[in-house]
Amino acid sequence: MEQSLPKHDCSKFVEQVFLVLDGEMSEEETNLFIQDIERCSHCLQHYNIEKELKAFLANRVERKCCSETLRVSIMQQISDLSDQESL
Ligand SMILES: [Zn+2]
Repeated sequence: MEQSLPKHDCSKFVEQVFLVLDGEMSEEETNLFIQDIERCSHCLQHYNIEKELKAFLANRVERKCCSETLRVSIMQQISDLSDQESL
């Protein structure tokens, strides 16, 4: 058995998963965390779900941001065209 790793604790995982996904953990801590949850299918599954969810939300926010920028850009172009037409 791997003696270097602390005993797996599912409740500790729940506290840490968000820190890892938010990038609050160092690379070393993250690696230890991944090694730890790979020993527990329950936590590994939970981690993957959280990761997918976070990626999904991030994409959604980004897309919303982009479409807002695009909308403003289009409004600006329409406004510019209107200005030119009125000259
Ligand atoms: Zn676990």
